[in-house]
Amino acid sequence: MLDFTDTRTAFSIKSDRDIRRAYFMYKLISYPWLVKMANPMIRFASAIRFPINWIVKPTVYAQFCGGETIDECGPVIIKLKEGGVSSILDYSVEGSEEEKVIEQALQETLRVIDYAASNENIPFTVFKPTAFGNSNALEVLSTSHSPDAESVKEGDKFRQRIQKLCERAYGYGIPIMIDAEDSWYQEIIDQVVMDMMANYNKEKPIVFNTYQMYRHDRLERLKQDHARAKKEQFFMGAKFVRGAYMEKERERAEEMGYEDPIQPDKPATDRDYNLALKYTLENIDDFAVFNGTHNEESSRYMAELMDELKIARNDNRCWFSQLYGMSDHISFNLANEGFNVAKYVPYGPVKFVLPYLMRRAEENTSVKGQTSRELMLLKQEKDRRKR
Ligand SMILES: Cc1cc2nc3c(=O)[nH]c(=O)nc-3n(C[C@H](O)[C@H](O)[C@H](O)COP(=O)(O)OP(=O)(O)OC[C@H]3O[C@@H](n4cnc5c(N)ncnc54)[C@H](O)[C@@H]3O)c2cc1C
Repeated sequence: MLDFTDTRTAFSIKSDRDIRRAYFMYKLISYPWLVKMANPMIRFASAIRFPINWIVKPTVYAQFCGGETIDECGPVIIKLKEGGVSSILDYSVEGSEEEKVIEQALQETLRVIDYAASNENIPFTVFKPTAFGNSNALEVLSTSHSPDAESVKEGDKFRQRIQKLCERAYGYGIPIMIDAEDSWYQEIIDQVVMDMMANYNKEKPIVFNTYQMYRHDRLERLKQDHARAKKEQFFMGAKFVRGAYMEKERERAEEMGYEDPIQPDKPATDRDYNLALKYTLENIDDFAVFNGTHNEESSRYMAELMDELKIARNDNRCWFSQLYGMSDHISFNLANEGFNVAKYVPYGPVKFVLPYLMRRAEENTSVKGQTSRELMLLKQEKDRRKR
């Protein structure tokens, strides 16, 4: 019986010290003014090269990141597995337009794929597609009917890089997920990823695209993609998230005077999220489903639907996922009930991962109720252990 209030299971791999640190971190980021102040201070400190590793690394970094390098993540991967949870290494360095940086990111992602292939506790690989393309070109290719020659050339380079990553993953038979980002880059990403699926998903789902269900057109898109997959006879890999860039999307749409791509309200996002899960689980012979959420209801919904549809809890086509350092009560309780769970484990040098960490801190301040939920569960566990 799935019980997300079971803190003994949720924090089984955490020592008393880990619990105290997590409590302290969540307490800090529960003050919006502090998070607001920390952002410019950290930026300033990095700009003047003031050393901040000593304060960031044992605190917020340790809470949300696995390590600075792939190897440094080793102990975290082992620890998570003690609680039955797998890991997905996420190279969380922000992208750049420079060819040299793009090439470095490509090499690092290939290394992650190699590493994942040799480690049974890493069932997936992942990357952010905008790290591998010129953003201007991706936008032109996504939004214009007659792209200029330069953008087309950049688009070809983007496609080749994505192909290289998918090809490597396919060689090992290890699934690879492509994150979703801003909507104005997404069309070309969707086209390339669907072509990769058509190429590499003939025998089993290897390539996964991400559907952001806060967009009002995604449920329809999912069905269209499914129709193509059936026609061309390949499997669909579908990762579902609600979407991380709502404010930015709404602001840009208003500023530039085009239709807001986001759902009218949260219940509409929740409805389409569940409908997408239902649609894919009911067609499970054509899909692999990856449910990336910190929402208890969406997690419970998928778990119950799997039981109802008699899909085995450990069926390799169905996965649940949360970010490292967040919502352990969902991850470990699902794993304890026999479901497949993998945490996204971000990694990278401290100074390059700072934007990721600031986003996590801001998100935890702004996502209604999430910080208080973490604090409440951690306190409950502290009290339980005292008793
Ligand atoms: C493993 C994992 C992988 C992820 N990968 C990606 C990714 O590739 N791309 C990406 O964009 N995000 C990604 N995310 C983040 C994700 O999109 C959400 O921002 C985050 O998980 C919060 O949503 P939720 O489902 O956890 O919870 P909830 O707290 O239930 O939902 C919050 C979300 O609901 C939506 N929402 C809130 N208010 C409204 C409103 N008024 N109208 C419409 N919608 C609203 C927003 O999307 C908001 O983020 C990932 C998250 C996880 C856990």
